[in-house]
Amino acid sequence: QLRIARPPTAPQLSALARLLSTLAILEHREGKLNVSSLASVSAAQKLGEPVTGFVAGSNAKAVAEEAAKVEGIDKIIYVENGAYDKGLPENFAPLLVENIKKGGFTHILAGHSAFGKNLMPRVAALLDTQQISDITHIESEDTFVRPIYAGNAILTVKSTDSPKVITVRGTAFPAGATEGGSASLEEGVDPKAGHESRLGGRGLKSKEEFDRLMPPLADALGAAIGASRAAVDSGFADNSLQVGQTGKNVAPQLYLCAGISGAIQHLAGMKDSKVIAAINKDGDAPIFQVADVGLVGDLFEKVPELTEKLRKE
Ligand code: FAD
Repeated sequence: QLRIARPPTAPQLSALARLLSTLAILEHREGKLNVSSLASVSAAQKLGEPVTGFVAGSNAKAVAEEAAKVEGIDKIIYVENGAYDKGLPENFAPLLVENIKKGGFTHILAGHSAFGKNLMPRVAALLDTQQISDITHIESEDTFVRPIYAGNAILTVKSTDSPKVITVRGTAFPAGATEGGSASLEEGVDPKAGHESRLGGRGLKSKEEFDRLMPPLADALGAAIGASRAAVDSGFADNSLQVGQTGKNVAPQLYLCAGISGAIQHLAGMKDSKVIAAINKDGDAPIFQVADVGLVGDLFEKVPELTEKLRKE
């Protein structure tokens, strides 16, 4: 069904408000509420009251207290446990499902962010429902509008699933006021299940390590800094630095990368560089298939060593 969306009428919305119970997933980083994740709250409000926020991680209570001031949230459920830091979906999905079942929520909403895109399909699978992605408009409690074919067509989706697991496009549901609310706080259930996963892989490990190692190397070379999408999504580097299919195309004299796997989408943005040099601890990493010069080793050792040598020259 392809058609242009129309906003729901006031009677439709007030009828919905009597039936629904929505859960909005809130994101945070290092104990601070991520305001862009409040798109889930704005969308939940369009469905009707009551709106419950959900937050988990080592500073969950402090974030919950901050989120309680957001206008339009009635209650915040929080779970304080470091296993849910960085929103690892393998850990977060079973936690969320337990709390959804306990609260009997009809609609679960998260931002269409890297976190939401990772988490919500797993939550939907565990609840045996189909996820509805990247909505830009709510027509009614079961009908949603979302762009498809890179925004060239608009799809209206009607879902009979229950509960409905939805990701929302941030720009379509701007965050409301972060002051003036007075939500109650409630501790959620913690199944303490699925905690085998730890965050790994991302070569530079953290923004602090990225900032400690990469600018001195770039300075020593007289180079600009770029980053992979994984590094950008993990918050190590600014979006504007992303190289690749969905980032910038670069073709410098020397492209020196450390802790880059060499995914095809990354190569799309840098493969025309004159000389490609790579440092990776995995000798089988795909980046070595395109590199002119390769060094198999730990970047935390090799990058400072290289920086030091370059400075001396
Ligand atoms: P990882 O995949 O986590 O790789 C880390 C690498 O670091 C590994 O090879 C590991 O061996 C190595 N490593 C780990 N620790 C160390 C250490 N101590 N010392 C040395 N080496 C170490 N990606 C982009 O970059 N740009 C894009 O524009 C882009 N667009 C995309 C578009 C789409 C539609 C999709 C689906 C994906 C896109 N991606 C893009 C993502 C891409 O598929 C990869 O997930 C991403 O490039 C991986 O980034 P990475 O190599 O930094 O991280």
